Amino acid sequence: MPGRARYPELFSPLDLGFTRLKNRALMGSMHTGLEEAEGGFPRLASYFAERARGGVGMIVTGGISPNAEGGFGAKLSTVEEVAEHKLITDAVHGADAEVKICMQILHCGPLAYNEQAVSPSGVKSRIAPHTPHELDAEGIQKQLDDFALCAQRAQEAGYDGVEIIGSGGYLLSTFLVEKTNLRTDEWGGSYENRMRFPIETVRRVRQAVGPDFIVIFRIAAMDMLQGGMSWDEVVLLAKEIEKAGASIISTHFTWHESAVPTIATMVPRAAFTSVTGRLRKELTVPLITSNRINMPEVAETVLARGDADIVSMARPMLADPDLVQKAAEGREDEINTCIACNQGCLDHTFAGKEVTCLVNPRACHETLLTYEPAAQTKSIAVVGAGPAGLAYADVASGRGHQVTLFDAAAEIGGQLNLAKRIPGKEEFHETLRYFARIMELRGVDLRLNTRVTAAELKAGDFDEIVVATGIEPRVPDIEGIDHEKVSGYIDVISGRKPVGQSVAIAGAGGIGFDVAELVSHAGVSGSLDVDVFAREWGIDFANHPRGGVTGVEPMVAAADRTVYLMQRKDTPVGRGLGKTTGWTHRLTLGRRGVKMMNGVEYLKVDDAGLHIRIGGEVEVLDVDNVIVCAGQTPSRRLYDELVELGLEASLIGGAFDASALDAKRAINQACHLAAAV
Ligand code: FAD
Ligand code: NAP
Ligand code: SF4
Repeated sequence: MPGRARYPELFSPLDLGFTRLKNRALMGSMHTGLEEAEGGFPRLASYFAERARGGVGMIVTGGISPNAEGGFGAKLSTVEEVAEHKLITDAVHGADAEVKICMQILHCGPLAYNEQAVSPSGVKSRIAPHTPHELDAEGIQKQLDDFALCAQRAQEAGYDGVEIIGSGGYLLSTFLVEKTNLRTDEWGGSYENRMRFPIETVRRVRQAVGPDFIVIFRIAAMDMLQGGMSWDEVVLLAKEIEKAGASIISTHFTWHESAVPTIATMVPRAAFTSVTGRLRKELTVPLITSNRINMPEVAETVLARGDADIVSMARPMLADPDLVQKAAEGREDEINTCIACNQGCLDHTFAGKEVTCLVNPRACHETLLTYEPAAQTKSIAVVGAGPAGLAYADVASGRGHQVTLFDAAAEIGGQLNLAKRIPGKEEFHETLRYFARIMELRGVDLRLNTRVTAAELKAGDFDEIVVATGIEPRVPDIEGIDHEKVSGYIDVISGRKPVGQSVAIAGAGGIGFDVAELVSHAGVSGSLDVDVFAREWGIDFANHPRGGVTGVEPMVAAADRTVYLMQRKDTPVGRGLGKTTGWTHRLTLGRRGVKMMNGVEYLKVDDAGLHIRIGGEVEVLDVDNVIVCAGQTPSRRLYDELVELGLEASLIGGAFDASALDAKRAINQACHLAAAV
């Protein structure tokens, strides 16, 4: 197959002695929420089987606790629990007998969402809801026994191996670090003592499962904690873990409480793999690397430069289950790329919701959202080639319908063409490339530069009309809104209207923040350059101080213009942004000197600037520009005209509802509707 020749490293098998991986692509562990859901296991079985059919060499499941105190729901310790896991292993091996599946054993330790949470010294994590109980000597032995039993049960359930997570701020890693391990017995004090628990865990697991079972250990190769692990400690631990019986070591680059983004879209692709490469030189077992490896050429480059033996792509497998197969067949341009937005996956996990994916709403919903061939082929007009219209056209044409897609603009993508211009959001280019290719492959009749009218649609005699005309920016009722200083965000982002040395942004939602990023940013985006990224977040890859960050000051260039970012609400600015990414935007803009203001009343705009009232005082901000980012309203003119002509039409995306709209909702709604037409 053409792709195999292009990616020789990715498609070379890996011999583990007692077993063999068919290629170097791993689907990394992700919690989906199905682990605890009613009827979740049959759904998980379909979800994993689809990825197995899609060509991946090995899969690691979401975390399963070895006992009640270690988790927040799913555990594996009893014979009864084995049966549901067998659904998964049978489905994966049935889909492709060569694909390996390992179960992750996740003991959350102090991060467990339950009141029985345990840890070495009862130190509460700042991100955890409960103060954990300090383990006594007996409690430690119980945890070790539970790990061993859990691994044995996983083996009984037909898994090919287990992954033990020894990083992230979960139980094992809290033994390693002084600030969470204050013990004075044999499990604390010296580093040799602090390493004992993770090493003993691996030793007992190996003893329980015998030699012919994959045991992966996930190590925090760079934990991103001030005062975290030193490089020598990482190497020593990895060597001891190898001796204790691990077959593979997987590198992780964070504790969840660290203040460095490691998987967000602002993180450059493959930013951390050099750390794995350095560790690989010290060990004999194969190493897995991860984080922001989202396309086959990135994976190939990482493997070819010797950074790792296996590449983990977790979220990219949510976005496109067939990623590996498409690479093998030289169809990379058909890959629906993970854009690292976290909006459908991690943000859902933190909100206690089932995982999905912004670009692929079927992720984790494989049995619920199906795209069957249409019983009766229809001719369908879709108006608007933003994410809603494109997703609709993708699914409907994939099911066999004849789709004509109109857009007034010269290119597909709608607002994603603005999003892709924001530094740190370059991955949207991939989404647009995917849609462009799919429209071509499916034979969608794409009519760009066409502002279609209701009368033309009527004359076209379509069986279905879908209106995906998006939104109109809201124009707030402020005196002087027509002043030449005032611009809309579309003009500014598209570059049609340059801005001066001082700027006030009215509205601090997602778009206000993006505009603030754009106008406060200078030079190369950190998302495109690892050195810039490392400087901005205070990471020292070369010297690896403790945690990779200890004593390193983030160096963010101050904005070369004055920027105010404002909202009327009294709540902290940026509170409504995504849970897993909002803090990075607030921190970055703050470091650049962007002035974030809440409780603002806009009074007027005139030659003097923007007049506001804040805290009861009137102030005049002497700004060159006021950029309006005050939300959006549905664009329904066409729809209303269709109704007037007596035509039926469906509304999707922003045209349906502009409040709390984002691309995730637009695509999700479109796919559901197109699946049913
Ligand atoms: P649109 O994207 O607005 O598309 C509507 C399309 O219809 C346009 O192409 C327009 O030309 C066309 N059209 C309108 N009228 C007609 C007509 N009469 N005839 C023909 N064509 C017509 N969302 C996220 O989820 N994550 C993000 O990170 C994110 N970042 C963003 C950053 C920026 C700067 C912006 C502006 C938006 C961002 N969004 C983000 C929001 C996201 O882009 C929108 O929610 C999404 O594009 C809405 O999709 P839509 O298809 O409904 O509408
Ligand atoms: P938004 O998130 O709803 O924010 C609108 C902002 O305008 C708010 O700050 C609001 O705050 C203010 N506002 C509302 N009405 C106003 C009025 N009449 N006068 C003055 N200010 C007003 O909308 P958006 O920023 O336009 O973004 C649109 C959608 O795109 C959002 O739903 C967002 O989720 C999505 N998006 C997502 C991302 C992402 O990274 N996930 C990025 C960009 C956009 P006050 O009312 O307090 O002033
Ligand atoms: Fe990737 Fe975003 Fe999908 Fe998560 S929701 S898998 S980050 S594209």
